Amino acid sequence: MKVFYSDRFVLPLPEGHRFPMVKYSMLRGRVAEAGICGPGELRVAEPVSDEEIVRAHHPDYLERVVSGALTDKEVRRIGFPWSPRMVERSRRASGGTLGACLAALDDGLAANLAGGTHHAFADRGEGYCVFNDSAIAARAVQAAGLVERVLVIDTDVHQGNGTAAILQGDLTVFTFSIHGAKNFPFHKEESDLDAPLPDGADDAEFLAALEEGLEAALDAAEAQLAIYLAGADPFEDDRLGRLCVTKGGLAERDSMVLETCRERGIPVALTMAGGYARRVEDTVDVHFQSIRRAADALELERGSKRGSTERSV
Ligand SMILES: [Zn+2]
Repeated sequence: MKVFYSDRFVLPLPEGHRFPMVKYSMLRGRVAEAGICGPGELRVAEPVSDEEIVRAHHPDYLERVVSGALTDKEVRRIGFPWSPRMVERSRRASGGTLGACLAALDDGLAANLAGGTHHAFADRGEGYCVFNDSAIAARAVQAAGLVERVLVIDTDVHQGNGTAAILQGDLTVFTFSIHGAKNFPFHKEESDLDAPLPDGADDAEFLAALEEGLEAALDAAEAQLAIYLAGADPFEDDRLGRLCVTKGGLAERDSMVLETCRERGIPVALTMAGGYARRVEDTVDVHFQSIRRAADALELERGSKRGSTERSV
């Protein structure tokens, strides 16, 4: 399976910063070790261009991000100190999602080991998100004439408010967000479909709401590509999560999303989104099992394709 990474472009954070930047390189290590990628399939994400970014963001915002002209308030809202490396990393994190979309259109499934920066709005960033990778990637594949309709399936515990706002009124991209009702962002935007969950929701509650929402979203979206935000933060021991979903429950979530899409013949690009477990190893476990499930599903599909060709010869 083709997997895109951008952890080489580390952005410098002050000591004690609560964003677990280390999770990205740890995750790439796990993926490399597991033999999920064939030769040349574990790839450095390309940066997205200005032209690609302004399909989702105001040119003025892009200009201020690139030149370091954001106000202190805007920088605080993003939560990362500004640096040229922050800009480069943000371009690459979105590029990984675009790369995964293009690879998924060829192969059925592919992944970005970053991305899911769903709190970025057209004219501002927040919650560790600078550019909205889902909106940028969806519009890039549309502009290339590869697909007409895209579905964003956002299972991060926080609502995909930036994605919902950017794509509101865009009938070609359907946004579905399942999230904690009382969690950040405290002012919710309107996705095409929202599934808010109460604090403490467990595996059964989470999976039942997901199943219902997923079917409805897929029926309404008529998409030729899905972007799946497999956030690790619905996990029960997440510091910012407020839900009680276990690792097993999150693995079931991955299978449900991947299988339901693939049964309908829809390619899926996986992105990682948030994860703030008390132990960073747990966050990496959850992200890794999402990648593992996708790789296993792809292998199964290829195996059954080979099997049917062999039988028909
Ligand atoms: Zn989150």
